[in-house]
Amino acid sequence: MKVPFVDLGSQQSEIADEVRLGLDHVFERTGFVGGPEVTAFEKAYASFVGAGHCVGVGNGTDALELAMRAVGVRPGGEVIVPANTFIATAEAASRIGALPVPVDVDESQLLIDPAAVERAITPRTQAIVPVHLFGQTAFVEQLLPLASAAGIPVIEDAAQSQGAQRNGRGSGSLTAAAATSFYPGKNLGAAGDAGAVTTSDPEIARTVRLLAAHGSETKYVHEVVGMNSRLDTVQAVVLSAKLARLEKWNELRREAADRYHVLLDGIRGVRLPESAPGNLDVWHLYVVRVADRDRVLEALLEAGIGTGIHYPFPVHLTAAYASLGFGEGSFPVAERAAGEILSLPMFPHLSPEQQEYVAEVLAAAVEHG
Ligand SMILES: *Cc1c(COP(=O)(O)O)cnc(C)c1O
Repeated sequence: MKVPFVDLGSQQSEIADEVRLGLDHVFERTGFVGGPEVTAFEKAYASFVGAGHCVGVGNGTDALELAMRAVGVRPGGEVIVPANTFIATAEAASRIGALPVPVDVDESQLLIDPAAVERAITPRTQAIVPVHLFGQTAFVEQLLPLASAAGIPVIEDAAQSQGAQRNGRGSGSLTAAAATSFYPGKNLGAAGDAGAVTTSDPEIARTVRLLAAHGSETKYVHEVVGMNSRLDTVQAVVLSAKLARLEKWNELRREAADRYHVLLDGIRGVRLPESAPGNLDVWHLYVVRVADRDRVLEALLEAGIGTGIHYPFPVHLTAAYASLGFGEGSFPVAERAAGEILSLPMFPHLSPEQQEYVAEVLAAAVEHG
């Protein structure tokens, strides 16, 4: 048996007819930028998240940069990010000329540690960016009081948490602004690159729109130096079709996660992921922890099981960010996790038989170590 890490085929066959029809309209009209499809998706996604506004942009990294700029991150400022995230969270700050300041994460969920954030705040801090890693939602209610006492905005990196909730409220609607990515492998994935900023602050929404459109609201009237970052019309068609099914697909992911919990429970040496109290998770990734990770990973791959590491190097230990000057030992929780984490196959249409096979191979690999 082969089990892919992600299988987008079943999603594609569910939406194929709807997408073809939508694309026919776009191509007949030859309106490839903006248009009613983009506006309709933005409205639907804002409402899905529970935010007042959604601005579609080119990708998740742009969304992070635009959200940061809109809340006032400037060259020379500092942006607090978790040490274990996809590099884009830090990169967005760097692109502005600001300094990403990594902090450690909590031991249970590997989400940004509010106590570590508090210690990292300086007079130069211009934003705090919790990452809703693996389909969870970070402890935003603990960050907001710290941030507001210091007068600093919080921006959610919600690229992995589309449809997740914390204490009944939508991930991506909890702070001044949130950035998300519709990279094909995300819970809501486009047919290429796409992203969005969600916010309930109309002024932030306006600024993001302005910056993403060459600093101009009226053609050729450029108020500020912006950039070009658009959600393509073609992507909006795909995203609207998938958004209509996202609730159901996230529910299927939760069912798959529950099956993993049962199948893997009791395998000695495998630590299972746990949802934090108050969180409704959407299981973008199902991440276990094992001691002899690289060997176990190899065994899974050899048995035809798609497996990944998210992420093998914390931000501060990448070559790109060596210049930050944080050596090994700076963020022990994130560093230890990086050596133990293993992402198992996870997607809505993952079958019980596939999961049984994964559990079998994982148990054998761990026990015969
Ligand atoms: C995917 C991802 C991004 C970046 O999104 P792109 O669309 O690839 O630019 C940022 N942060 C996190 C946590 C992600 O998973």
